[in-house]
Amino acid sequence: MTKPLITGKTKLLGVIGHPVEHSLSPVMHNAALAQLGLDYIYLPFPIEPENLAVAIAGFATMGVVGFSVTIPHKQAIMPLLSEITPIAQAIGAVNTVSRQNNQWVGTNTDIEGFIAPLQTTYQQNWSQQIAVILGNGGAARAVVAGCYQLGFAQIHVVGRNMQRLHAFRHSWGNSQLAESLQVHTWDELAKLIPQANLLVNTTPVGMYPQVEESPLSVEEMQKLSPGAIAYDLIYTPNPTQFLQQAAKKGAIAIDGLEMLVQQGVAALKIWLQRESIPVDVMRLALRKHLDLT
Ligand code: NAP
Repeated sequence: MTKPLITGKTKLLGVIGHPVEHSLSPVMHNAALAQLGLDYIYLPFPIEPENLAVAIAGFATMGVVGFSVTIPHKQAIMPLLSEITPIAQAIGAVNTVSRQNNQWVGTNTDIEGFIAPLQTTYQQNWSQQIAVILGNGGAARAVVAGCYQLGFAQIHVVGRNMQRLHAFRHSWGNSQLAESLQVHTWDELAKLIPQANLLVNTTPVGMYPQVEESPLSVEEMQKLSPGAIAYDLIYTPNPTQFLQQAAKKGAIAIDGLEMLVQQGVAALKIWLQRESIPVDVMRLALRKHLDLT
């Protein structure tokens, strides 16, 4: 990619995290900004937890337009914002912040990122369908909310600790979402897999460098129905063992790279106040960066 031309009017976007060196966001966002010919730059900002408040105040004085938020700031940033969208409140985490009327507004684009590949690729009626979600951490919250938004009849979350699973379920209160949500420990997985129309891995099992690992054994994956969709939130390696095994079984595979791109597209739409974002350019920039093309 050619280096962007920084001018006296260049507007600033970025990502805050600690560490932030491994973030893929600068690659895809700067590719999109260059393609659009906009005088913006997107930078990585390594911010230690104890410096979060002062950094955000500094961003306001510098006229930062918006920024992405990654680990460990996704919850900690919430009290520092003037407004938090209902979606981010429901998930309990903010991944995108924008400056609106001199105030910081936080939202979460992970739901949009998660559902976009499902909606664009597979025009299904989800209302008769069953989702099985592996893991009950932060990303699982966006996945559960996304499945609910799509209208899945049943949403099953599988975890390894019943106490944490109950806490996960109770965190949705008496909402309609909670009514379609059931939690299970891993020993119940064998009976859930054959019913799954959508099977999502939100655990880090199989992520680089543990590339030979998978959250499911080969025998468990054999139980997946051939028309099912297997979705792994992990983006390196690409594809994961989980997706390779699912594809062998005839399932449709969606990788975490697409969710990453789509949550970035949703963030750029907010910051730039425009609907048309060069998603292909962002995807290609990431694939090149990760040596996937
Ligand atoms: P997290 O909050 O730490 O949650 C991880 C979940 O995985 C927890 O429920 C944890 O179980 C479970 N887990 C961890 N190790 C396990 C193991 N060995 N066996 C079974 N379960 C295990 O992490 P997160 O933020 O949700 O992220 C999870 C994954 O999603 C990461 O790989 C991350 O890179 C990916 N992600 C991708 C995107 C994207 O755009 N593609 C976005 C967000 C996250 P316990 O609760 O029992 O500890």
